Parts: sequence; structure tokens; C-alpha cells
Amino acid sequence: MSDVIVLWDRVLARQLRTNVCGSKHIFQRACSTHVTRKVSSTAGSNESNANSTGDSPQHDIAIVGGGMVGIALAASLASKPLTKHLNVAIIDNNPLLGRKNIIEKGHLPDPRVSTVTPATISFLKDIGAWKYIEEQRHAYFDKMQVWDYTGLGYTRYNAKDVDQDILGCVVENKVLQSSQLSCVQESDLQKTIYPARLNSMDMLPSSSLTGLGEVPSTADLFMRGRLAKLELSDGNNVYAKLVVGADGSKSRVRELAGIKTTGWNYSQNAIICTVEHTVENFTAWQRFLPNGPIALLPVGDKFSNIVWTMDPTEASDRRSMSEDDFIKAVNDALDYGYGPHPETTSSGGSSLSWLTGDVNISAKERFETPTKVVTL
Ligand SMILES: Cc1cc2nc3c(=O)[nH]c(=O)nc-3n(C[C@H](O)[C@H](O)[C@H](O)COP(=O)(O)OP(=O)(O)OC[C@H]3O[C@@H](n4cnc5c(N)ncnc54)[C@H](O)[C@@H]3O)c2cc1C
Repeated sequence: MSDVIVLWDRVLARQLRTNVCGSKHIFQRACSTHVTRKVSSTAGSNESNANSTGDSPQHDIAIVGGGMVGIALAASLASKPLTKHLNVAIIDNNPLLGRKNIIEKGHLPDPRVSTVTPATISFLKDIGAWKYIEEQRHAYFDKMQVWDYTGLGYTRYNAKDVDQDILGCVVENKVLQSSQLSCVQESDLQKTIYPARLNSMDMLPSSSLTGLGEVPSTADLFMRGRLAKLELSDGNNVYAKLVVGADGSKSRVRELAGIKTTGWNYSQNAIICTVEHTVENFTAWQRFLPNGPIALLPVGDKFSNIVWTMDPTEASDRRSMSEDDFIKAVNDALDYGYGPHPETTSSGGSSLSWLTGDVNISAKERFETPTKVVTL
């Protein structure tokens, strides 16, 4: 997950760095939901606690973007003794944020999934979100196999190589999001959700506070460079000491803060979908094909998720295939299509296993063909 953090207030930034960034992951435990002005919500029990001098709400932190990253940060802030009393705004017009999210048991898996590592699982346990994820569909995997279409070799990974029970767990994004949100909703964090988009942001140079009264107004603090002003798409203004950009890959916060990025187009598309097998899949598979890799990830029950990367022309052709033809193409891509299977040596492992010195359990494992896909 990626995010951009813009630090407006150095003191607060230092506190947060100790509390949030000081740990390996930006995530921790959670809080409750306050939905403020013009926002109705069934989610939280607490009312808005936004400080307000004059009519513009003032917050310690404004998190722009309430996706997986923004909500994880809110949950993390709520869980730490040093930050759980902060006054936090979450700005996002995603309607999911304003309601209690219950994902029906037995729902079909969503095609957007994430593989979470043991380190992220620890974080999610820490913030109290993992118990909600465990109640819903998720798939641990302890093996992974990677190979390519040339048939020259394969690599297998086994959690036991590193004395672990699992290599990771695949969870639908909406389950990750709603579980973290549940933590936030059930906590006591002073939180306000603004169902709007950030339009613009302003921050003046910092100057002395002398000459102001004991409780300076929001306008005074803004004029002295102590608060950032956020203009929202619904016409409201919000003020905050710290602004966090968690607004995705095309971050408006990043743009407004003048943070430059470098990027280029790979001219590749990915087809993402859920497929079903006749038996459960417990392995993560990835095969490199001439136009890009195909990955088959277990998502629980008898379902797997496919992320198949290819050039745009191939993607367009495959999208217009019939369901039966697409299933055949997937099974082909994960089996003999494009080239032979790699050889397994007489000792069990790949012909390249000498590279690992045969010290790992996985080095002795035979090449396997992925579980067949039967429906889309
Ligand atoms: C095919 C695929 C597979 C992936 N697999 C993995 C994986 O296995 N593991 C993993 O860790 N990651 C994976 N990722 C990456 C992961 O999905 C992203 O890193 C993650 O979703 C980013 O979350 P986010 O909250 O930063 O952004 P987003 O999920 O994009 O959320 C951004 C939020 O900001 C809001 N927003 C945007 N602009 C504004 C604005 N101006 N004002 C207010 N709100 C705004 C949006 O409404 C949205 O709710 C994968 C990505 C793809 C495409």
C-alpha cells in the first residue's frame, strides 16, 4: 500500500513519527466514528468533537482519503496512547465510510484482493481488525510456485523453509477495508467524516503567535501558518495542523503539495477475475508468459483470484472471449500452453536446486501443475 504524508506541524509530526512511523508499519489499533455536519451516519456512537473557533472546524489531523491506507492510519492513531486523544478528520466521499459495513457470509469473492504478509497480519491483529477478517473469507497459503514458459526451471517456496506456518494470506480488499473501519467505528477516537472531495489546500508561512489572545481563532492560526486550510467539494472548509494524503495513486494532496513523481507507461493491462475449482487451492502460483505473468491466488472456499498481465491487444481479445474459451485459455496458460513443464530431478527438486544448496524443504519439492479452473 502506498501513501503520501504531508507534515504541516513539526511538533505533531515528531509525535506521530514516534508513534506511527516509528513502527515498521503505519497501522495499529482503532477508534470510533463521528460523523459531523451535513453527514448522517449509522456507524458511530460518538458525536463530532471537532474543535471549532468560529464556524470552521479545526482538527489535529486531516486524513484525505478513506481507503485501506487512510482507514488504517485512523485505526492506528486510535490505538496509541499518544495519539488516541487527537481530533481526526477523514475526508472522502466514498459512501461506504458512512455506514456499518456488513459483508454477507457466502457472498461471491470480489475480484480486488490483497496478499497480506505475516508482518501486516501482526499489524492488523494489533489494531483489532484481524478478528473481523477471520470471521470472513480469507485464505492462508503456505506454498508458492513460480516458473516460466521456457520450461528451464521453477522455484518453490515453503513457509517451513523459514520456520513459519504460512507465507501470507489473501483477503478481499473490501473485507480489509470494512474490518479496519469496524475497529475505527468501535473506538473512542474523536473522528469526523466529511463526505466530500478535497478541492484545494492552502498553508501560509509560519510566523509568531505573539499578540493573539489566549485562545487564538482558527482564522488567526491559519494566518500565522499554524493550520492548513482544506477546501472541500461541498463548499466547506476544514482546518488541520497536519494533513495526510491517503488519496490513492492520483493523489490530489500530493499534487497540491507540489510533490513530484516520476513514472512511465508499461503498456500492459491486467485481467482480474475470480475463478472456481472443484477442490480448494492452498498454493500461490505464478507463471511468466511471453507477454506478462499470470498469478493464481487462493481466496478461500474453492475460489482463486487471477491477475493476468498482458499487452493491451491481447487483453482486449481475451476480454471478448466466451467464458468457456477464457477458462480454457487460463488452464492452458497455467499448464502446457506456451511451452513445456520444467523438469524435476531424480532427487525431487528443480534442476536449479543446486543454487540453494538443497538446504530448504522447498528445494526438494517437485514441480506441480496448478489446480484446474472449472468456472468463472
Ligand atoms: C491488481 C492489483 C493487485 C494488488 N495487489 C496487492 C497486494 O497483493 N498487496 C498489497 O498490499 N497491495 C496490492 N495492490 C495495491 C493496493 O491495492 C493499493 O496500494 C491500495 O489499494 C492503496 O490504497 P489507498 O488507500 O492508498 O488508495 P485507494 O484504495 O485508491 O483509496 C484512495 C481513497 O481516496 C479517496 N480520494 C481520492 N481522491 C480524493 C480527494 N481529492 N478527496 C478526498 N478523497 C479522495 C478515494 O475515494 C478512495 O477512497 C494491488 C493493486 C492492484 C491494482
